[in-house]
Amino acid sequence: MPREIDQEAFIQAVADALQFISYYHPLDYVQAVYAAWQREPSPAAKDAMAQILVNSRLCAEGHRPICQDTGMVVAFVDVGMEVRWTGGRRDLQTMIDEGVRRAYTDPDNVLRASMVADPLGARRNTGDNTPAMVHARLVPGDTLKLRIAAKGGGSENKARFTVLNPSASLVDWVLETVPTLGAGWCPPGILGIGVGGSAEKAMLLAKESLMAPIDIHALRARGPADRTEELRLELMDRVNALGIGAQGLGGLTTVLDVKINTFPTHAASLPVALIPNCAATRHIEFEFTGEEPTALTPPPLDAWPQIPWDPAKGARRVDLGQVTQEAVAEWRPGERLLLSGRILTGRDAAHRRIAGLLEKGEPLPEGVDFRGRFLYYVGPVDPVDDEVVGPAGPTTATRMDQYTEMMLAQTGLLGMIGKAERGPDAIESIKRHKAVYLIAVGGAAYLVARAIRKARVLAFEDLGMEAIREFEVRDMPVTVAVDSQGASIHQQGPAEWRARIADIGFQGT
Ligand code: SF4
Repeated sequence: MPREIDQEAFIQAVADALQFISYYHPLDYVQAVYAAWQREPSPAAKDAMAQILVNSRLCAEGHRPICQDTGMVVAFVDVGMEVRWTGGRRDLQTMIDEGVRRAYTDPDNVLRASMVADPLGARRNTGDNTPAMVHARLVPGDTLKLRIAAKGGGSENKARFTVLNPSASLVDWVLETVPTLGAGWCPPGILGIGVGGSAEKAMLLAKESLMAPIDIHALRARGPADRTEELRLELMDRVNALGIGAQGLGGLTTVLDVKINTFPTHAASLPVALIPNCAATRHIEFEFTGEEPTALTPPPLDAWPQIPWDPAKGARRVDLGQVTQEAVAEWRPGERLLLSGRILTGRDAAHRRIAGLLEKGEPLPEGVDFRGRFLYYVGPVDPVDDEVVGPAGPTTATRMDQYTEMMLAQTGLLGMIGKAERGPDAIESIKRHKAVYLIAVGGAAYLVARAIRKARVLAFEDLGMEAIREFEVRDMPVTVAVDSQGASIHQQGPAEWRARIADIGFQGT
């Protein structure tokens, strides 16, 4: 007897699941970060993990997104061969897209639409975060199994693929590759590795591996059963021994788990794909029989640890209305600041437009004056209820490197706020103009947004989340990442902790 599954019920289940994962981290992720936080001796990395944990709890309490990048939807669907759809003639992609549309435009917890079309042309936001990436399989049975994730762009951008010589070492390739990823994937996270099959199969294996819960500590406790499990443990320990640490600040924990999925491959090939998952790890798995999915039971709030995080402790308070280049020159990498005053916002599309105006010798839009100001690279979520702005964490600054000389030389900008490292040219520009680069914690977007007291759009409103805004902030927690002399925490921190870990002898995490 085929089981009848109503299309409308499935669409709503997809929407409910996406809302659920937008504000509830998987508890295995929370527990793994908490364990890493407890053993972390690096002050900067420990502070970053504290912010991730506090943010996670606030999101669970407030039902607001963990990160301002609410992700691209990825769905793996196992469709039972005895399922008979009722209530419509939509295909699977159309049903899942409708679920995405509902979830991302839900007025009670509006999520950020990040998908753009056409990718080589207008790159216009589709407005509702569709389409989803749908991977379907026909399997025996009369139910649907749905594994669905909201994957952040910063970590997706760090996906890598290679075809190794079959005699080459997977471990060597991973250890060479991970340091080149920088911090834009917002560690601590999970490495998903796909080995074998063909090129596209290896990528899918890697992505699918990220749908599994963190279980490496259980694996370590019971001992590896095969070569793949041995490699997971070896890679976990050796990647963490690189000293990259939370947010790339240097520390003991870069990865919380390493997943490896394998598949038979051609005798001449060893395809390998690597995809990291970030501090906004968001996924859920459930079986759908047409009833309400039971996996969506809210976790108890006491499952989140109470972290004694005091942003004021040891931090320098900065009045952005008074700050000067001379004052900025005293700040050093790793120093924590609490910013109060007005900052401007802008990211990729705004920079492109500013560059176009400056090239043509045209003025910046009325009201946009960067002189002596700080520019925050952010694309916030829209506000709900009495919020002034939704979650508003930093985006990857490296993408703005190409505009840094222009902004510092031609607009009088004093500093930038983002996440992850800057490239050598951007650092040279920061040094040349005696500017500074600050970082906020990627994956702590709701926490950061609490420091924003007022927000208004100044220019480029048509760019939506990429518009130029002015934020009035109070005690916004940031860390100095590149000082006015060009010293970078993302270079110093991992180098220092790699050496320290080598000295103390890494025992595994
Ligand atoms: S945690 Fe970082 S990589 Fe992940 S979605 Fe947020 S900003 Fe993007």
